[in-house]
Parts: sequence; C-alpha cells; structure tokens
Amino acid sequence: MTRAVFLDRDGTLVDELGFLRDAATLRLLPGAAEGVRLFNRAGWRTVLVTNQSGIARGLLDEDDLCAVHARLEQALARADARLDLLLHCPHHPSAGRGLLRQSCACRKPEPGMLLDAARRLELDLAQSWIVGDSARDLEAGRRAELAGGVLVLTGKGRDELAALAPAERARVLSAPDLPAAARLILQGK
Ligand SMILES: [Mg+2]
Ligand SMILES: [Zn+2]
Repeated sequence: MTRAVFLDRDGTLVDELGFLRDAATLRLLPGAAEGVRLFNRAGWRTVLVTNQSGIARGLLDEDDLCAVHARLEQALARADARLDLLLHCPHHPSAGRGLLRQSCACRKPEPGMLLDAARRLELDLAQSWIVGDSARDLEAGRRAELAGGVLVLTGKGRDELAALAPAERARVLSAPDLPAAARLILQGK
C-alpha cells in the first residue's frame, strides 16, 4: 500500500485568483514545485484535490480546467516535479445549473475525492496526509481518516488560521508554505 499527499490547488500550489479560467494567468507559488518534488523523491503519491464550483456556476468549463491543469503540470515538470493524479469537484450545493447543482460527496470538506484516489491508486489513507490553505481541506482529511493535515499559510491560510477557535488553532499543524509542510510531514511522521 502506498502513501499519498493530497494537495489543494488554489492558495497552496498556485496563486489564488478567484476562479482561474485562463491557463495563461496560472502562477505557481514560490516553492510549490520544490514541495511536490520532495514528496516525489520520497516515493509518495501526489494527488491534487480541488473544488472547482466555477464549473457549476458557468464561469469556466471542463475544457478550460483541462487547459489550466495541463499548464500546471508543464510548469511543475520544468522543475522536475509531478502530480500522479488530478481530481476536481465541479459541483456546488446551491449555485449553478442542472446536475452540477447538488450536494455531492466530493466537494471538500467531503472526502469523496480522497476516497476516489485511494481506490484508484491503492493508497493507505491512514498513512497519508493533506496540505491546504483552508480549514475545509483539513476537515476533508479528517473525514477520510488520514494520518494528518497541514495548513499552509500561503493563499488564505493566515486568515483561516486566525478564524479558528483557540482550542482548534492550538491543535492545527501549520507551515509557512508547501516545502515547509513537506519537510514537516516527511521528517517527523
Ligand atoms: Mg485553497
Ligand atoms: Zn462534487
């Protein structure tokens, strides 16, 4: 069985730009490729899990997202870093149209994308981690019964940390950015 790190996209790997539709505007955060590479070299699977309700809202479509993710993979490849699987949730519970407007099992904090990846890649969830800039990333990790999660203080991470109740804040593992989170996870745990 294989270990994985689940990685949020916006605010964790790339600049938070609202709804990223145009691949040309994609920017890796400083250290993002290094962080992914650290997991690659340690033999962990790397799985992108991203909520993309902009699709339900009609702000972008699956082709736009495909182009954005192709660009992301190219940018990582130039730095010798690789994602093993990229998953997204196109739904929203109350916004948007047709079948995309639903309370699905994949929108984080639901754990559906993590469970799906575990089936596809035969992952050991109990030894896997999640890294994201949002409390709902960490909650998805809890619901999937991962070993743990790290809140990165890039993107909206600082605001998310400040918004937690004090007891919760004391329990949360945080790191300044993705490479720091990777070192934390790969060293200690
Ligand atoms: Mg995020
Ligand atoms: Zn969904």
